[in-house]
Amino acid sequence: QREEWRKLRDEATVSTDGVHVELAANIGTPNDVTGVLENGGEGVGLYRTEFLYMGRDKLPSEDVQYNAYKTVLEKMEGKPVVVRTLDIGGDKELPYLDMPKEMNPFLGFRAIRLCLDRQDIFRTQLRALLRASVYGNLRIMFPMIATLGEFREAKAILLEEKAKLASEGVQVSEEIQVGIMVEIPSTAVLADQFAKEVDFFSIGTNDLIQYTMAADRMNERVSYLYQPYNPAILRLIKMVIDAAHANGRWAGMCGEMAGDATAIPLLLGLGLDEFSMSATSILPARSQISKLSRADMEKLAAQALDMQTAEEVVALVQSIEG
Ligand code: PEP
Ligand code: MG
Repeated sequence: QREEWRKLRDEATVSTDGVHVELAANIGTPNDVTGVLENGGEGVGLYRTEFLYMGRDKLPSEDVQYNAYKTVLEKMEGKPVVVRTLDIGGDKELPYLDMPKEMNPFLGFRAIRLCLDRQDIFRTQLRALLRASVYGNLRIMFPMIATLGEFREAKAILLEEKAKLASEGVQVSEEIQVGIMVEIPSTAVLADQFAKEVDFFSIGTNDLIQYTMAADRMNERVSYLYQPYNPAILRLIKMVIDAAHANGRWAGMCGEMAGDATAIPLLLGLGLDEFSMSATSILPARSQISKLSRADMEKLAAQALDMQTAEEVVALVQSIEG
């Protein structure tokens, strides 16, 4: 099996009926890129920039960030790199920001909410990204978007920083796609509206599942409700992908579900364009997809969407594997 995977390293990811999907990797630091390339990653689908801000006693400077982003873009040699802007708060804290304790951190002041408030932090990151953009194929992604207003505000700030850099004579790529994570149900429900304004979606199932099921992703007591295969989740995913395609955009997924062998047949059937996962899952996923027919998986997904429970969906997927 390992031999087969190794052969697939430099191959495209294609279903038996010729549909191409992109398999990308989630990374946390520039050092992770080596593993992405060794495992045949076609891009970086999620660069979690939080690590740049953690394990230090003050905010990282624009130059520290610029160097990290530039390194990742250069090492990926023109392959797409989706960089997520700071997603701090919730389970990830920064001691030096001195943020007040919250009753429900996962429902609180985190990610884009914090960035739109602390624009000094946000603008520094955006400038670093814009400056690095000329070294590769950069895509910028905003986390935890709940309303169109948040996206518009974040994008306006990005464009302001871009204009400032231009006036300073700094080169910035004109090809940067700007997208959002879909990890809050309100955004999945209004995906048709978002799709008119964003360049892409990346579905963050880790959070989308917890918010849809109202089940804390860290809480063992309610983990039975944390159900990736619940038809409610599958329907939300379908809404996002359909909205993207109806507007000529692409839809990816960077939550754990994208690399899950039970989910992959369903996601292929729902039309997902990009799957972003831990690097070590890429070759197994490529092998799996190369044995599946997208047309058949469309039928499978349609059946799953009409089911009532997660257990029924799992049984359905297992029935094709036998
Ligand atoms: C997600 O929510 O699915 C996601 C990829 O982001 P994180 O796990 O960093 O919250
Ligand atoms: Mg998330």
